[in-house]
Amino acid sequence: MLSPLSVDSTTTAPRPRFLGSVPGPTPTGDVLLRGATAARYADLVHDVADDLAARIAAVEQPFSGASRPELQGLVDAVDLDGLPVGTADALRETSDLFAPHAVWFHHPAYAAHLNCPVALAAVGAEAMLAAINTSVDTYDQSTVATLMEQRLVEWAAGRVGFASGDGVFTSGGTQSNLQALHLARERALTDAHGARLRGHARQERLARLRVLTTASSHFSVARAALLLGLDDDAVVAVGVDTDGRMDPEALAASLVSTARAGDVVMAVVATAGTTDRGCVDPLEPVADLCDAAGAWLHVDAAYGGGLLVSSRRRHLLAGIERARSVTIDFHKTFFQPVSSSALLVRDRADLARTTWNADYLNPAQEAGVPNPDLNLVDKSLQTTRRFDALKLWATLRAVGAAGIGELVDAVCDLAAAVHADLAADEELRLLAPTDLSTVLFRFQPDGLDDARADALVPQVRRVLFDSGRALVAKTVLDGRPCLKLTLLNPDATPGDVRAVLELVRSAAHGLLAGQELLSQEVAR
Ligand SMILES: *Cc1c(COP(=O)(O)O)cnc(C)c1O
Repeated sequence: MLSPLSVDSTTTAPRPRFLGSVPGPTPTGDVLLRGATAARYADLVHDVADDLAARIAAVEQPFSGASRPELQGLVDAVDLDGLPVGTADALRETSDLFAPHAVWFHHPAYAAHLNCPVALAAVGAEAMLAAINTSVDTYDQSTVATLMEQRLVEWAAGRVGFASGDGVFTSGGTQSNLQALHLARERALTDAHGARLRGHARQERLARLRVLTTASSHFSVARAALLLGLDDDAVVAVGVDTDGRMDPEALAASLVSTARAGDVVMAVVATAGTTDRGCVDPLEPVADLCDAAGAWLHVDAAYGGGLLVSSRRRHLLAGIERARSVTIDFHKTFFQPVSSSALLVRDRADLARTTWNADYLNPAQEAGVPNPDLNLVDKSLQTTRRFDALKLWATLRAVGAAGIGELVDAVCDLAAAVHADLAADEELRLLAPTDLSTVLFRFQPDGLDDARADALVPQVRRVLFDSGRALVAKTVLDGRPCLKLTLLNPDATPGDVRAVLELVRSAAHGLLAGQELLSQEVAR
C-alpha cells in the first residue's frame, strides 16, 4: 500500500479530468480561475449565459408560484457534503434549482418592490468584475479601479451640484444612510474648537442628539440612529403635508422645540422619493431651515436619485446640492444590478471622519506628509469591497446619462398613466399621488366596508403571489393597509399594468365570492 503522500512513479496515472456527469473528487487543478483554466472559464461562462438566455427568453410570468414547502424540499434535497460533481454539472444543477423559481424583475407583471430590470452593459461589467475580483480598498489592490470609482463618484457629485464633492460606493442605501448619519454624529460630537468630545462629555452630548425626519423616511434611518448609540427617542417625527412630504413649517417648529429642550439636532434627513409614495420632500425650504439652524442636511435619494439624469424631472431635486450628504441607489433608478449605491458628500473633509488607520493596510501618515496613495478604504465602512462602480461606468459609456434619464422618465410617465387610469375606477381606488413611480390603491367598490376592504389587501397580494402571475406589494397608508405597485420597468406598457390590475380585480372578486359562499354555508 502506498501512503497517501507517496508518488508511484512507475504508474504515473494521467491527471484526472472532468468527466461530464461522473461524480468524483474534483481535481484541484481545475478549481480556480487562472491562466491554465482561462479557456475553460470562457466555456463555462458561455454555457451559463446560454442557459440563462434561453430561460429569460422563455419567462412567462414573474414567478413560478412554487410553494415554500416545495422550494424547501428542492433546497434540502441537495447534499452539500455529498460527492462533488465538478464545475460544469454543479453550475447546471445550481441553475436548475435557482433560475426556475427566481423572481424576474424584468417581467412587466413584476410590480412589487424597488427592483429594476438591469442594463445589459452592467451585466457584462458584472461578469468582468467578478472574474477579476478587484477589491477597491487600498490603491495597491485596485489601481485603475480606484481611479475609475473616484472619477465616477466625482461625476455623481457633480450631477448633484457639489462643486468639489466626494463620496464612496456602498452596498446600498441602508449603508449609505448609516454612514451619512455616522459622519453627522461625529461632527455633532465635537467641541467648539472642532476637537472630538471624549468620555463623560461625549456620553452626555450623545444622549441629546436628535435626528429630524418624517414618518415616511426609510426605516434604515431610525435603525442607523440606534446602531449609532443614539437615544431610543432620538428620531423626531417631523410633520408632513397631506401627501406625506415634509412640511417646512413643521420642521421649523421641530428645530425650535428641539433646541428649547436643550437637545442637539444631529441631522435633518429629507427623502427624495419616499419608498411608499415616491414623494420628494421640499428640498429648498428644508435646506433654508437647515442652513439657518446650522444643521446637517442629509438627503436620502435612494429612490429618486435617477432624477439626477432625467431631462424632464431633474427640477424635482432642486436644492439637493445644498445637502451635506446624499444617498443614491444606482441599483434602483440607474438600472444597475444589486448592489450599487453611493454616499456623496458636499465637503471632502467630512469623509475623513470615517477613516481608521491600520498598519497592514493604510498606515497613518506622519503629520504634514501628504498621503501619496488614494486608499478608498479611508472613506468606507467596508474594507474588502466590490468594484460595483464598473457597472455604472460601462452603462454610462453604453447608453449615456441622458439614456438612463429617459428610462427614469419612462417609468414616471408609466405611473402617471396608471394614476390617470385609476382616477375614474369605481373599484380600484387610487389613494395617493406620486412624484416618481409608485401606485397606492385599494379594492373598495361602493358598499364594501373598510374592514372587508382592508382584509382583502393581504389576501389579494397572496393570491397573486401564489399564482406567480403578477407580483404586487402591500403597505400601510394613514393607518390602513393598501396595495402598492412600484413601477421600475421602462419596457412595461400601460396595458401591461392594466393586466396586473385586472388580476387584482378578479382576485378580489373571487375572494369576495368565496367568502359569500362560505357565509351562506355557515348560515345553512
Ligand atoms: C431602498 C431605500 C433605502 C435602502 O436602500 P437599500 O439599497 O435597500 O439598502 C433607503 N432609503 C430609501 C428612500 C429607499 O427607497
